[in-house]
Amino acid sequence: MKKPPLILTNILVFIITGAIAFIGVPLWATYIGFDTAEIVTAIVLFYFTGMSITAGYHRLWSHKTYDANIVVRVILAMGGAMALQNSILHWCSDHRIHHRHVDDTEKDPYSAKRGLWFAHIGWMLREYQSHRYDDYRNCKDLQKDPVVMWQHKYYLPLVLATNFGITGLLGWLNGDILGMILIAGVFRLVMVHHVTFFINSLAHFWGKQPYTDGNTARDNGVLAFFTFGEGYHNYHHIFEYDYRNGIHWWQFDPTKWLIRGLSFVGLTHNLRRVPEERIRKARAAMQFQKASARVSQLPNADEVLSKIQSEYDLLIQKMSDYYAAKKRLMRVRQKCLKRSVERLELDYTYKELKNALSLQQEKWLRLQQLNFSMS
Ligand SMILES: [Zn+2]
Ligand SMILES: [Zn+2]
Repeated sequence: MKKPPLILTNILVFIITGAIAFIGVPLWATYIGFDTAEIVTAIVLFYFTGMSITAGYHRLWSHKTYDANIVVRVILAMGGAMALQNSILHWCSDHRIHHRHVDDTEKDPYSAKRGLWFAHIGWMLREYQSHRYDDYRNCKDLQKDPVVMWQHKYYLPLVLATNFGITGLLGWLNGDILGMILIAGVFRLVMVHHVTFFINSLAHFWGKQPYTDGNTARDNGVLAFFTFGEGYHNYHHIFEYDYRNGIHWWQFDPTKWLIRGLSFVGLTHNLRRVPEERIRKARAAMQFQKASARVSQLPNADEVLSKIQSEYDLLIQKMSDYYAAKKRLMRVRQKCLKRSVERLELDYTYKELKNALSLQQEKWLRLQQLNFSMS
């Protein structure tokens, strides 16, 4: 089959910036050297532009996981332009298609089923996409955001002004324009490109699938460290409207910390979280599925399967009871602050159900380990 035509602009951008980053910058470092101010600026801009993609393009605009003040939106739009990944409107349109048709080799723009190279960068090198380049019907909501439309209209001037203007100015202040553009402009850009591309490539290949195996997305703590928290991609693909990707406090998700931190000073609001009950049930369902698959080859498979099934049913029932009690208790707590009889009773039931659930959860986990040793 004939391959679609090459996109020369993209290819040239990747080759030129890549050559400068991997050949020019090491040579400059050897013969001229970078000073601390240049290195620190490159690191700061790496985080700023990378997180403009993850907190801005991705979690704010593509998935609407929270609302942000206009100042924050303008800053994220500028950081996104500096990351050189097309306009917000275009990026989000592609990304929404990715979620809607994940892994579809025809429709998903960066389908992991077409290989690691394709998902990482190959998809941008040829005109693979069948739909019109400027078809933004899946982003009608974004077209109402003046910041999105302003950035889309002035995308190229913003790219040039941020990448060369900001770094050039900082270089001038530091006494070496070219050195600053090389490390904080180009080298930083190439690094941001590839770490964010990892979210489409590696995060669909490498890691665990604790929430769903309905698509290729994986959870990977190592990857999260390099992708501003986006490595928890299995969770993200099942619960895309959650502003968090790493839901536990110990999971490395600086994008989540940034969004939450800004909410404390009133710059972001309406942070959306998936209810804990749904998350735990999704995880349990996946454990149930994996456990069933593991024991299916055993000689006494039917017997073990029915045991797993009954323990799983009990777990789900106890989760439902516990979260229903928790909801009731919250409602009563909001209504009456005083210690009414109703509230005391609810408190008691809630604690009992909580204990029952944690006992069942322990039993369930032990059963998983047992299954594992049998397989
Ligand atoms: Zn997403
Ligand atoms: Zn994905």
